[in-house]
Amino acid sequence: MAKRDFYQILGVERNASPEEIKKAYRKMALQYHPDRNPGNKEAEDKFKEAAEAYEVLSDPAKRQRYDQYGHEGMRGTDFRPFTDVNDIFSQFGDIFGSSGFGGSIFDEMFGGGQARQRRRSGNQPGSDLKIRLKLSLEEMATGTEKKIKVKKWKPCETCHGTGARGGHSTVTCPACNGAGEIRQVSRSVFGQFVNIATCQNCEGEGKVVKDPCTTCKGDGRIQGESTVKVNIPAGVSDTHYIPLRGEGNVGRRGGPAGDLIVMIEEEPHPLFTREGDNIILDLLVTFPEAALGADIEVPTLTGRARLKIEPGTQSGTILRMREKGLPRINSFSRGDQFVRVNVWIPKSLSSADKTAIKQLAGSENMSPGDGATSANAEKSYSSRGKKSS
Ligand SMILES: [Zn+2]
Ligand SMILES: [Zn+2]
Repeated sequence: MAKRDFYQILGVERNASPEEIKKAYRKMALQYHPDRNPGNKEAEDKFKEAAEAYEVLSDPAKRQRYDQYGHEGMRGTDFRPFTDVNDIFSQFGDIFGSSGFGGSIFDEMFGGGQARQRRRSGNQPGSDLKIRLKLSLEEMATGTEKKIKVKKWKPCETCHGTGARGGHSTVTCPACNGAGEIRQVSRSVFGQFVNIATCQNCEGEGKVVKDPCTTCKGDGRIQGESTVKVNIPAGVSDTHYIPLRGEGNVGRRGGPAGDLIVMIEEEPHPLFTREGDNIILDLLVTFPEAALGADIEVPTLTGRARLKIEPGTQSGTILRMREKGLPRINSFSRGDQFVRVNVWIPKSLSSADKTAIKQLAGSENMSPGDGATSANAEKSYSSRGKKSS
């Protein structure tokens, strides 16, 4: 199959600047990224094709050679077409890093998403760890930095993770001759069966330590504890998690570390209830405040704020305090705080209080009026509540 022109692949002019080439490649890589096109062979091919074109055109020397000699010019250089998409990730990690392809929104927000790197050589990577992190609504509203202690496998300091005493000294596993697996042939009347099993001697690594480290017994890692800092962005909820790359268990004998997945959990709040980005507060006001109106202070997630109670405010009325809710992830806007007003009825009264209230009770303004029964009154209260929400 004839190769397509690299400039054509990226859709740029032959005199395109390095910036234009990078931009064009980034756009294509995002569009045909395997994470966005799972199982789509055509997209994967396009992704590889774009990466190949970018590898050449982003390198001034290779680009010049290509301009002069075309695809033929690439022979005898260190250029080789990509066969595995994982190679593309490891080579152009910086390009994906700034846009983020990761397990979560946080990669995208903070640019922390190093393109996934699957290390292809060396020992088995360590496993991922999951940890739950409880946060108050206040912490979720402002964002915070937390230090968490994690028990995990860490590299053995005695042997620097090699598992060997006195430096690196692994030998080919004598049991499997380095294959990492053992073939067992068995015969039956139906013929010959081959059973392939992981080698028990080297646990599939094909290598064993000649002189094992006494601290870790040749494992290259020990159980330990680490304190990990994690930045919590404002607006998180318990549907979010934060992956910390390389903070999980380290692999055996120098295998790379897995990730630490921080699962967010919301602590119940004594005053507030969360509904998405909004906060709901049940507020008690006095009868005089409700009847005469008042300027009061109410708690919010970021401190106390003023709230105006209009004269004649009924129990059940919901008042909106704009942008006093939680910040929205990936946006500059915030949710609101809704305050449900409840008029507080005093439970104990002095005889002077009673006299004053009895005097008031005589006023026609004290009744809902229009022959309203208590049932009707309730209806008018709740409709009022809806109107102002
Ligand atoms: Zn050791
Ligand atoms: Zn073996």
